[in-house]
Amino acid sequence: MLHDHDVDLCGAEGGGRAAGMPYLAAQDRFGFRCAGCGGCCRGREDLVLSGYDLYRLAAYLRLPPKVTARAFCRSYIGAVSRLPVLRLAPVREERNNCPFLTGGRCAVHAARPLACALYPLGQEISREGRVRYYFQNTRCGQSGGEDALAAYLAAQGVAGRESCDVLWAVRCMDLEAAAPGWEAALGPVVLRRFQAKLAEALYYRYDTARPWAAQFEANLAWLEGQRARLEGMQQAIDRKNR
Ligand code: SF4
Ligand code: SF4
Repeated sequence: MLHDHDVDLCGAEGGGRAAGMPYLAAQDRFGFRCAGCGGCCRGREDLVLSGYDLYRLAAYLRLPPKVTARAFCRSYIGAVSRLPVLRLAPVREERNNCPFLTGGRCAVHAARPLACALYPLGQEISREGRVRYYFQNTRCGQSGGEDALAAYLAAQGVAGRESCDVLWAVRCMDLEAAAPGWEAALGPVVLRRFQAKLAEALYYRYDTARPWAAQFEANLAWLEGQRARLEGMQQAIDRKNR
């Protein structure tokens, strides 16, 4: 069983590209055809959602993002990133299957999270926003399929969302770098309040009728104001306690 400290924003500890998994260029072909067996949805505890993933799910389910997260996710502070993490809450009574696996099928296929749309590909995004993909030989699916990377990404809806995923990854890397600073500046009580604001900015403060990216950028500007306000509050508390 995976624990919260095993899974951070980038997925499960030890996950990611293993040695020997080559990166794919746009026209590189790989042999894979999904058999639709649902195997990658069973026993899944490591499915981390980005703010954009949650927004898409919420829009699909016609629920506010926070209600969607409460119904289907676990939330906690990442052990390494120190940022709020959301992952799909596996259904214990169903051998830890994904909560959206229904009758052997994905009930949210059109709005499935990035990790699901990519599978069995992996994606890496650099600090500078460079995106690379690699093939994880999961030994599932049917033989015979030979897709070029670019065609596969387009067919799975990954290409169409890539700019949002890059924006999410790069901004989260910036926040992760800033986390030690605010953890040093804020006492535990005020820090918890700031972490709640962080969760609002990253995941919840969205109107799903409006585009995500502009709201994400606006949320980060709002968050900066919240950080300054809470730092002022912390300084006032410290002065009183001296
Ligand atoms: S969201 Fe859908 S595709 Fe992804 S693990 Fe759950 S059931 Fe499977
Ligand atoms: S990606 Fe693989 S495990 Fe998942 S449904 Fe397709 S064939 Fe099955």
